[in-house]
Amino acid sequence: MKCVFCNHDLEKGVQTIERRVRGQLHYISNVPVDLCNKCGEVYIDDSTVTAINKILKSPELSQSENSLQFDFAILNGIQLSKFETSATTNLNQFVSS
Ligand SMILES: [Zn+2]
Repeated sequence: MKCVFCNHDLEKGVQTIERRVRGQLHYISNVPVDLCNKCGEVYIDDSTVTAINKILKSPELSQSENSLQFDFAILNGIQLSKFETSATTNLNQFVSS
């Protein structure tokens, strides 16, 4: 996958995403993203956006008057080592070609 802005190759990673709900800023950490290291653009796929929106609609969050932090990986049962594994696979493919 390439960056639509600068055509640089994207890399898999995780980021903390900020979202404002009713004027209150909340943070979701460990969100799987595709990152452009050249221009800094961050891409989030549709299923991840859907999962984030689900978190943002939770009663816990909408009733909170404080800023909350959620861990996307824990909430969705994602093991972060999965991303490290795929990065290693990509590297191996790059080396062999
Ligand atoms: Zn870019």
